[in-house]
Amino acid sequence: MLLERSALVKGTLLEVQRTCGNPGCKCARGQKHSCSQLSASVEGKTRTWNVPRRYIAKVKELTGNYRRFRRARAVWVRLNAEMRERINEMEAVRAVADFRDECRRQKRCS
Ligand SMILES: [Zn+2]
Repeated sequence: MLLERSALVKGTLLEVQRTCGNPGCKCARGQKHSCSQLSASVEGKTRTWNVPRRYIAKVKELTGNYRRFRRARAVWVRLNAEMRERINEMEAVRAVADFRDECRRQKRCS
């Protein structure tokens, strides 16, 4: 998942019901227009883009790529943190504060 090359698009595809503002339109009598929008948080703000019908399938695929990538990334980041902790423990167990202690200890043993 992390090593794939496919493009990633952040966001969720939404089906939105809207009125167009024309008082003579059917939407003014309750039959709203339906359109697809991509919604995503960009630098802390929610942004939306209209998605033309012909792009819907592709956008679904691309946002799916992003979601799967993010899941895989979260697992990788967690494993990395665990590995780092184990490595720190290994170092702490073996680290010697004063080389002379270690030299004397080796002398006694040999
Ligand atoms: Zn309308």
